[in-house]
Amino acid sequence: MTTTIISGGLVITAADETRADVLVEDGKVAALASPGSAYARGWSADRTIDATGKYVIPGGVDAHTHFELPFGGTSSSDTFETGTRAAAWGGTTTVVDFAVQSRGRALREGLDAWHAKAEGKCAIDYAFHMILSDVNDGSLKEMDLLVGEGVTSFKLFMAYPGVFYSDDGQILRAMQRSAGNGGLIMMHAENGIAIDVLVEQALAAGRTDPRYHGEVRRALLEAEATHRAVQLARVAGSPLYVVHVSAEEAVAELVQARDKGLPVFGETCPQYLFLSTDNLAEPGFEGAKYVCSTPLRPREHQAALWRGLRSDDLQVVSTDHCPFCFSGQKELGRGDFSKIPNGLPGVENRMDLLHQAVVDGHISRRRWIEIACAAPARMFGLAPHKGTITPGADADIVVYDPHATQTISAETHHMNVDYSAYEGRRVTGQVETVLSRGEVVIDRRRFTGRAGHGRFVPRATCQYLN
Ligand SMILES: [Zn+2]
Repeated sequence: MTTTIISGGLVITAADETRADVLVEDGKVAALASPGSAYARGWSADRTIDATGKYVIPGGVDAHTHFELPFGGTSSSDTFETGTRAAAWGGTTTVVDFAVQSRGRALREGLDAWHAKAEGKCAIDYAFHMILSDVNDGSLKEMDLLVGEGVTSFKLFMAYPGVFYSDDGQILRAMQRSAGNGGLIMMHAENGIAIDVLVEQALAAGRTDPRYHGEVRRALLEAEATHRAVQLARVAGSPLYVVHVSAEEAVAELVQARDKGLPVFGETCPQYLFLSTDNLAEPGFEGAKYVCSTPLRPREHQAALWRGLRSDDLQVVSTDHCPFCFSGQKELGRGDFSKIPNGLPGVENRMDLLHQAVVDGHISRRRWIEIACAAPARMFGLAPHKGTITPGADADIVVYDPHATQTISAETHHMNVDYSAYEGRRVTGQVETVLSRGEVVIDRRRFTGRAGHGRFVPRATCQYLN
């Protein structure tokens, strides 16, 4: 049994900020004590980590990643090995990735395939959501089994007709099922049928550049789908979690639902908070680097997202990490924006960008931990093991230097992708040391983890309503 003391830091959780020494035993947080009292209390340690002048925060929980996802004739470029290692570098110690049901196939087949991709490869702990691409009697029954195995959330798409798309009847049936089995429905809320018409019209008119990806995926079509998803969830009596909210009008739909007291939740992502359609309009084909869905919005939308995060109308910031290299992957869409693989890299950048938001005054330090660690852990049934620093919790802990400065760049990042969406951005704050279940996986900015340390975590049902 290894014992570690993390001494002298400011321990920040979603609930408290307190100067304390943290005792880690056997992979778990054993105790917190006032600074300097560790030895007086008779604690002894195999290892002491000096966190003087640093923050001691829970490891990040990124509830939205896509490693090795087949999409648009190619696959996202991070494997579970490279993606979880990059996550650790960025202070994230748990990811929830999306297993995919293929059309006409069982959920089990998709889930088994994702277990096979991840097993023995991960540097940090991982869990799965299940993407439903084919809601039918068989998949509805399988949902109950998956909830029992710790795969307790199911993503549906109102976009991507012919690929992941579910119609309103299928959505209603899946929501009814989850109302009964405790699963949480996650929704990609964009009206994909209408978007496909606009895509066809844009291409026919010769509007083929990346920026038209943002223009055809209209904010109103995100808001419309969000509204419809909320009403369907009300009819079914189920909670609803809307992924990657980007439009001010969609936030307004969530606010309206929550003001009625409905169990409706929303997630946004760093790209919507820090990037905009200005990036999509970058000259040449550079805009392709920023093609994701929902799309980046005009800068004016960002204020509504920050407000939503402060007012708890948005609860979670995840990355939707889905990297495709510019060279050879994004380039598939030269001359036709609809063929650009959708997705951005970000799993390594989330904790730092959100710390920058603290520095910039958008959110408080505790809110940073809430939206990046504690809320996703509760939302997806990972609490109390993940997302906080409290006796009994997994010792997933980051020693964070709030004063270090760094420049984000593809030259120095660890994600397996040939560009950074935040290239050249200066941020204040940097991960120094990371523990995953008590094991040091990043030691003063050296990777000391290993593929296979990370374990599959079966999840409880959503704890956000308790
Ligand atoms: Zn996604």
